[in-house]
Amino acid sequence: MDRTQPVSTTAKGPASSAPEVLPPTASGGVTQATVVKKTAPKSDYKPADVSPQRRVQRSYSVRLWSIRHSRALEWFYARFADTFLLLHPLWKSIGYRRVEGPVKFIEKRVKGFMFDCRMCGQCVLSSTGMSCPMNCPKQLRNGPCGGVRANGNCEVEPDMPCVWVKAWEGSRNMVKGDAILNVQKPVDQSLRETSAWLRVTANAAAAREAEKAGTSA
Ligand code: SF4
Repeated sequence: MDRTQPVSTTAKGPASSAPEVLPPTASGGVTQATVVKKTAPKSDYKPADVSPQRRVQRSYSVRLWSIRHSRALEWFYARFADTFLLLHPLWKSIGYRRVEGPVKFIEKRVKGFMFDCRMCGQCVLSSTGMSCPMNCPKQLRNGPCGGVRANGNCEVEPDMPCVWVKAWEGSRNMVKGDAILNVQKPVDQSLRETSAWLRVTANAAAAREAEKAGTSA
């Protein structure tokens, strides 16, 4: 029997007078997303980013490239953070509030392109093998759920590699890859759409000034 087709069974007997339609199941060559699309109720409203079609068509190639090159990006990011910290006096003289707009504009586009960044404002890429955990449909920040498929893909988006499987792979390439074992705090939703670059820089500058004040006291 072809298990991809709905099965209609008409049982004869006193307890089952109505036909029973069994749902189709995915089998060789047919993805779960395709089955969901075929069986979804027809409607004029098709949300842009959550339709099964969109999930099937979506390419994760740049995101996966970044994970494969996590070691080089780790090196680059460290230098980039140092440069941003060197510019702290400039940011401070202009005013962090004033520079936020342009910096956020660039950060959103650069990280969006490379990591599918969702601008959570509390970046942990250096602890997650350059795989952004906000791409996990459940937004888990401390490892995968129990639903990873046998092929390493996500249970919610069957055509997407699990971000935590990829995070582990990326972390194995990095010098400080064991940072993936650190427990991350829950996401602070109030920091969404803010600049992680500026936050990290301002925090590092404050820590450096506190350290200087401590040694001179
Ligand atoms: S962890 Fe947050 S800031 Fe970093 S790439 Fe992901 S969404 Fe963007």
